[in-house]
Order: sequence, then C-alpha cells, then structure tokens
Amino acid sequence: MSRVGIMGGTFDPIHFGHLSAAEQARVRFGLERVIFVPNGQPPHKKSYPVTPAEHRYNMVRLAIGSHPDFDTSRMEMDRPGPSYAVDTVRALREELGGGVELYFITGADAIAEILTWRAPEELAESCDFIAVTRPGYDLRPLQSVTDSLPGARVHLLDAVGVDISSTEVRARVERGESLRYLAPTPVVRYITTHELYVS
Ligand code: NAP
Repeated sequence: MSRVGIMGGTFDPIHFGHLSAAEQARVRFGLERVIFVPNGQPPHKKSYPVTPAEHRYNMVRLAIGSHPDFDTSRMEMDRPGPSYAVDTVRALREELGGGVELYFITGADAIAEILTWRAPEELAESCDFIAVTRPGYDLRPLQSVTDSLPGARVHLLDAVGVDISSTEVRARVERGESLRYLAPTPVVRYITTHELYVS
C-alpha cells in the first residue's frame, strides 16, 4: 500500500521549517509524495489579516521548486467556504483510490485542536496524522486528543534543526530585517516584489 502525505497549513508565508518537516516526514514514514495544500479560508479565525490565498499558493510553488516528490494543490483555495480538512481528505481519497494511506501533516498545536474541527471522527478514520513539534513542545494537549479519539493514529515528528514560524517571518519583514536562510530565495524575492507583510 503506498502512502501519500497531505501537508496542510496556511503557509503565510512558507519557510524552511515547513520544508524541512515535510522532507523529514517523507523519509521517516516512507511517503511516496507530499502534497502541500495551502488553505483557502482558514477555518479558525486568525489574529492577523491572512494574505490572499493566491499569493500563499504561489510562494508554496516557488518553495518546493523541483523536488520530485513534492507537489501542491489548489483544492482548498478553489473550494468555496472554510477549508475543512475532512473535505480535503475525502476528495483526495476519491482521487487516489482506496489503495493509498493518507497522512495529514501539520503543526502539533493545530492537531491538538482536532476535536474542534469538522467531523473529527470521520477524519481520524480516514487518515493518520503527523504532528510536527517544536523543541520543548508540551505533549499533554495531544494526549487529550488521543484520549478523546481513541482510534486516532497520531505520530509525532520532532522537526530537527529549523525553529522558525511564519509569525516570526512576518515580523522580521515588518521590521525590515533579513529573511536570508529562513525561507527559499525565490520566496524572499516574491515577498519583496509584492510588498507582502509591510503595513
Ligand atoms: P495554525 O494554527 O496557524 O498553526 C499552528 C502551529 O502549527 C503554528 O506553530 C504553525 O507554524 C504550525 N504549522 C502549521 N502548518 C504546519 C505544517 N504544515 N507543518 C509544520 N508546522 C505547521 O494552523 P493553520 O495553518 O491554521 O492550520 C493547520 C492545518 O490544519 C491547515 O491545513 C488547516 O486547514 C487545518 N485545520 C483544519 C480545521 C478544520 O478542518 N476544521 C481547523 C483548523 C485547522 P507556522 O505559523 O510557522 O506555519
């Protein structure tokens, strides 16, 4: 049975932490490919104005470049309304057929909130989760997920080496600081050209 990763996130913007986590997940879990799916409308309200999906998608495409096993999908952006993970997994299941195991990869903080997502039981039955943690992550919120959804298959991935967040990247742009070595050069250029993250 082949395995496919679904890298879900807002990617505002994508940075080396995301890319490194996706690559580590690919190798560790033997994923045939990893599909990056930038959300259209994040289902949970954000504390900042989210950048239009088209820009976030363009940056994801630039970031993955020519990686032979990375791909990107417009699925969530092109679907009207909030981007529910259960709809995405359902659609990919239909597209790829039953002979594929799906792994939904995202931040551990996001996965810890799964009980508040749409149809968590159906989601937990249809895919495994890879929860990407940062150094020093408190595992207790994830434990409560597996306690409440006993069938959920949640795997931890301690992403090594790159402790970056999109929040920090946006703050650096706002302060006029360098993004070199935090995100791929074409992404940094895209941010500059389109004057993203400056008020
Ligand atoms: P978030 O709350 O903005 O992110 C929480 C943490 O996870 C942040 O530290 C974030 O870092 C990190 N993170 C996010 N995506 C990641 C990824 N792919 N790999 C590694 N770390 C990641 O999360 P979000 O972006 O809104 O949502 C994450 C995913 O969960 C999306 O696919 C979203 O659609 C899905 N979701 C679904 C539902 C639902 O179905 N109802 C509800 C909520 C979220 P950065 O800021 O650096 O990315």
